[in-house]
Order: sequence, then structure tokens, then C-alpha cells
Amino acid sequence: MKFSDEQIHRYSRQMILPGVGGKGQRKLLEAKVFIMGAGGLGSPAALYLAAAGVGTIGLADFDRVELHNLQRQILHKTCDVGLLKVESGTRTLESLNPGVGIQTYSERITAANIREIIKGYDLVLDGSDNFPTRFLLNDACYFEKKTLISGAILRFDGQLSTFKPHAGGPCYRCLFPELPPPGVVPSCQEAGVLGAVAGIIGILQANEALKEILGLGESMTGRFLMFNSLNLSFYEVKIQRNPNCLLCGDNPKIKDLIEYPQSCQGNAAGPSLPP
Ligand SMILES: [Zn+2]
Repeated sequence: MKFSDEQIHRYSRQMILPGVGGKGQRKLLEAKVFIMGAGGLGSPAALYLAAAGVGTIGLADFDRVELHNLQRQILHKTCDVGLLKVESGTRTLESLNPGVGIQTYSERITAANIREIIKGYDLVLDGSDNFPTRFLLNDACYFEKKTLISGAILRFDGQLSTFKPHAGGPCYRCLFPELPPPGVVPSCQEAGVLGAVAGIIGILQANEALKEILGLGESMTGRFLMFNSLNLSFYEVKIQRNPNCLLCGDNPKIKDLIEYPQSCQGNAAGPSLPP
């Protein structure tokens, strides 16, 4: 594949980076990244991945744009209220970079379709806002051996990690074995979220995705990052695969995807881990 003049011009500032070059840019153009949710995390993540020239971006969201989304979901504009988020998101990403192919999934992501959908992608970004989807995505990525870049936000806090159990690292269930009971962790709807926190965590997810594609730097696998925006602090704990994990442990109990009832929907970030 030869670069067009337009591509060389567009990507010049990253193609001159050590470790990227034409070879890295080609990897980006050939990469396929699936983003769960075109919301607070998925919006900034998708924008930076499209800007960098990630060749195929899958965008899954069954919601429509509402006015209260616009405080943080920067893929969408006031004139998009009422549109499907994947329609509005596609329009924004295509206007940013027409060279990127956007695949959209406006149906609900369930145990019945998730494995088939992520099969075609190299990487999965979790920008979901609820625990049933978070666990479903973790389990599907485990079974399909896909790297999962996980982000979560609530109020003034955020979390980030990369799960690669197929490469020996932990999965999300190694940390949080089961869904918290409904109501234990408040949702963004109940507790609120600062828009910029979504931006910071979503951009960190994009950063990790670019690193994974380019094979640069140190992966976030085995590391769990917590961010507090009020005192502007990041702290990180090392995490390991749990041999008793229900999913990726030595004697796994979970052999197939579980469809969690929607009644326990509505949660975002997991509990903080002790330093
Ligand atoms: Zn595990």
C-alpha cells in the first residue's frame, strides 16, 4: 500500500515520530478497533483514533442523542438531538477524516451477537456505562482472545486498564468477580459526571489503543490506573491474573456468555482499589 500525498500530509506529525514512521502509519490504517458506546468515553476515543487514521472503527450504541448527553459526548452536536448516536458519530468522524471506515451497530449488544461482532476487530474499547455490558464485553473478549481497553468514570473519578488474559494478564473479573448488586454503585445519571473526566479517560483509552497497534511503550496490562480530577492525582496498582477467577482461572465456572438482566443496569465505575 502506497501513501497518497494527502495521507503523507495529514499524518506527517505522527509519521515523523520515532517508532511510527510509514510502517506504523500502515499498521494504523490497517487496524480495526471496536468501540462499545458512542458516549462520554467512546466520543473522545473515536475522535482521536479517527484523527490518527485507524482504518476501521466499529461504533456500537443503540441510543439516540439527547440534550443532556452533549455536556460530555463530544461526537454529537445540538443539531444531532434525536438522531441515532451511531449516525451522528459517523457524520462527525467522517468529517474529521473521510479516509476512515466506520462500521455501525445500532442494535442492542447482547450475548447472542457480541462474539460475532468483535471477531472482525483487533482491539476492543469499553466505553459502556453499565455493569452488565462491561461484564459481557470482558467475557466475550476473553473467549475471542481480544485485547480489551477498559475505561470507566463516575463523578470526578476515572479508571483505566488493559485486559489481555490471552497474553497472561488478568481479566476484569480477576478484579471484580461478579456484578455488584443493583443500586450499590450509583450510575452517572444518579451521581453525575464531570465532562472533562470522560474526555481524559476516553483519550487515555485511545492512547493505549494506539500504543497496542503500534507496539510502542509499556502496555496497561497488569496495571490499574485510578484518576481523581479534584486533586488531579493518578495512582496505579499492579494487578495479576487470579487463579480462582470465575472466567480465566484454573478451574473456570463460566464457560459461555451470560446475559445479565437489564434490571441491574445503570452503573459505571467499579469500586476503587486500595493503593
Ligand atoms: Zn480473570
